[in-house]
Amino acid sequence: NLSDKLDSAFHVLKGHGQITEINVAESLKEVRRALVDADVNYKIAKEFTNTVKERALGQDVLTTLKPGQLMVKLVKDELTELMGGEAEGINLSGDPSVILMSGLQGSGKTTFSGKLANFLKNKKTKKPLLVACDVYRPAAINQLHVVGEQVGVEVYSDEGNQDPVAISKDAIAYAKENGHNVVIIDTAGRLAVDEAMMTEISNIHEAIQPQETLFVVDSMTGQDAVNTAKTFNERLNFDGVILTKLDGDTRGGAAISIKSVVNKPIKFIGTGEKMDAIDIFYPSRMADRILGMGDVVSLVERAQEQYDEEEARKLQKKIAKNAFGFDDFLNQLQQIKKMGSMKDLMGMIPGAGKMLKDVDIDDDAFKGIEAIIHSMTPEERSEPKVINASRKKRIAKGSGTTVQEVNQLLKQFNQMGKMMKMMQGGGGRKMMQMMKG
Ligand code: GDP
Ligand code: MG
Repeated sequence: NLSDKLDSAFHVLKGHGQITEINVAESLKEVRRALVDADVNYKIAKEFTNTVKERALGQDVLTTLKPGQLMVKLVKDELTELMGGEAEGINLSGDPSVILMSGLQGSGKTTFSGKLANFLKNKKTKKPLLVACDVYRPAAINQLHVVGEQVGVEVYSDEGNQDPVAISKDAIAYAKENGHNVVIIDTAGRLAVDEAMMTEISNIHEAIQPQETLFVVDSMTGQDAVNTAKTFNERLNFDGVILTKLDGDTRGGAAISIKSVVNKPIKFIGTGEKMDAIDIFYPSRMADRILGMGDVVSLVERAQEQYDEEEARKLQKKIAKNAFGFDDFLNQLQQIKKMGSMKDLMGMIPGAGKMLKDVDIDDDAFKGIEAIIHSMTPEERSEPKVINASRKKRIAKGSGTTVQEVNQLLKQFNQMGKMMKMMQGGGGRKMMQMMKG
């Protein structure tokens, strides 16, 4: 699948110390192939990888982030951007707000109408009305009634009336009279785009001027989805896309292609047949999904891989015995550095950005600390208590720092020792927290 392929693509970069034209080109070729395999239009995939390439080559190679991680981040950021950046809600400013569903037969319009009604109803301030405008099949009207019953939302239908324009108008009047502030109009679709369907939906659209016209599309239809989206958009200039059947391991490629071809936001996704299988579309989550790094857990695991478990256990023992010295401290610093830039890595976790505002671990700070420790004798490192005034002077001179800086490190080290004992070890993660002080 796509995630595996991307994984192997980034693997190419592992072990390389910096981003070069060659390793970028190599890995992006894989990324492009993976995107095309996931049904992303070739041209879009190519444009996409070109953009990422430009960004990657412009990056400072001295960055603490490893090239592989940096590429993952760049690809993710760019994918997110491509799918719309921020999540966009639906316009509910009308009174009532009229929402028109459009799309092919079987795309999931009726199901989504029910899901959306349920979603809005749960917001308490909304009282939706579902409207059955698929007048050609009695079964279709019945299906909406079943759905309405499931979610406890009233359904307006007019059996025998074959004019969907008239039904929609009547339904809106009915909604006004009965205090419904949202009207969701479910329409008929056909198996393929044809003129009769296009005329009908355009007529309804024209007559009722909905606040939101949503194009519902089955995400499993791949390239066809793009062409259908294009045709509907030309006729309706719709406001948003609903991607259905994104459950299981459905490829996410359609999201990328549709967004870049019609340039309309994807607003919701359907993730199952049940009425609660609806989610707001978040571009960054979708990017995670496509890249296969959606859950925070796997990200954290990745970071933790960098810790040597054995080392951590030893450390724990030392702390318990009060034998934690500057050599261990240095060791821990190196472990932290191995993880790359924590900030960038954490930045990939949704919502972590804010948390990190006041956490700043910069490389220069590390360098000073390292220099000081390197200027200590082995005895001083394992037994910091022996560091007196004259030793401090020597250390400061040797490390190109000042006595104040040496003092500061010793103070921090002392505090840390106390805190570490208190929480009985726990390795570098907890240490990071203390370092910021
Ligand atoms: P319509 O013809 O556009 O109104 O499509 P329907 O709402 O009748 O849906 C067609 C089929 O797709 C039905 O069997 C639905 O249960 C199914 N379906 C709709 N949305 C989803 C979804 O998000 N996931 C899955 N797995 N099935 C869905
Ligand atoms: Mg239907």
